Amino acid sequence: MSYLNITEVESAVTSLAAVFPTAELIELPEPSVEGRAAHALRIGTAERGANDAVVLIGGVHAREWGSCEILVELAADLLEAHRDGTGLTYGGTSFTSAHVRSILDELDVVVFPLVNPDGRHYSQTVEPMWRKNRNPANSGGDPARIGVDINRNYDFLFDFQTAFHPAAGPRVSTDAGDLVYQGPSPFSEPETRNVRWLLDDFPRTRWFVDVHSYSEDMLTIWGDDDNQSAEPPKNFRNTDFDGKRGLAGDQLYAEYLRQADADDAGVLAEEFCSGLKAVRGRGYTPMTAFHLYPTSGTSHDYAYARHIVDTDKGKIHGFTVEWGKSFHPPWSEMEKIILDVDAGLVAFCLKALTL
Ligand SMILES: [Zn+2]
Repeated sequence: MSYLNITEVESAVTSLAAVFPTAELIELPEPSVEGRAAHALRIGTAERGANDAVVLIGGVHAREWGSCEILVELAADLLEAHRDGTGLTYGGTSFTSAHVRSILDELDVVVFPLVNPDGRHYSQTVEPMWRKNRNPANSGGDPARIGVDINRNYDFLFDFQTAFHPAAGPRVSTDAGDLVYQGPSPFSEPETRNVRWLLDDFPRTRWFVDVHSYSEDMLTIWGDDDNQSAEPPKNFRNTDFDGKRGLAGDQLYAEYLRQADADDAGVLAEEFCSGLKAVRGRGYTPMTAFHLYPTSGTSHDYAYARHIVDTDKGKIHGFTVEWGKSFHPPWSEMEKIILDVDAGLVAFCLKALTL
């Protein structure tokens, strides 16, 4: 095996659904900009929606090739182990058959391995370092200005020029020629809308993990500023703090997060990292996303912010994995990274069941 092309990712997802009765194929409502269908899997023994859900997505940034394989392998591992009544072993990390059963019996595990098929195809056939989708709508006919960064296109502090301090320099752009172009409006892209649809379609989603590369981190919210749990008015909805967000270690602003939620996020990130480390010793760092760099419009912040903006929605703890130390490691190394991250994700799911 080596890196999967987009046809192979699709056929892996559809054949898992065909072979395993505990997997359900989910067709996302919108095709990509270039017209490609997208599919996810729901893994679980109960009726759809009867359990809390963990939603795992990957293949958002085109060049981060191994994310699709990580999620396809995780789905296959869980389904095969459950069918065969076995446990799972990833190097030095092991899970019992009872662990596997509890994940499938007590959760909806929703796996969406390829959010951005157009971008992955372009990255694998034309420009290996391509990151965005392939939407030409804002390019003015200039091929160098094609594409939107899907992970800046969510509805969270989208108007960053108003929200952030002029010196903050969040890693997001209004210029279609940039790698981190946010798009003309929140959810302007079908790929981003598909992820939102998945969260809406599983209203019992409590955990969301977006699989990216690279830097060997497990990122928790928030991405716009440091966290704090003492001053609720300092929050992303409060326009009194426009122009003050995004500076590190200052007194102007830090994003409010309830202490209990900060604690839960930290516990889950630690559990992911310790499950991963036991495989072969890789040390991933749990930290808030802001400590990587300030951002707006990312998936994990949007996922958590939903229940604050709309109190009818459930609370979703959002995370982003940044696996590995390069975008395209040799396949022999990628195979090891898949074991690392999948062990971390299984440990994450088991811990989530206890919270
Ligand atoms: Zn990424």
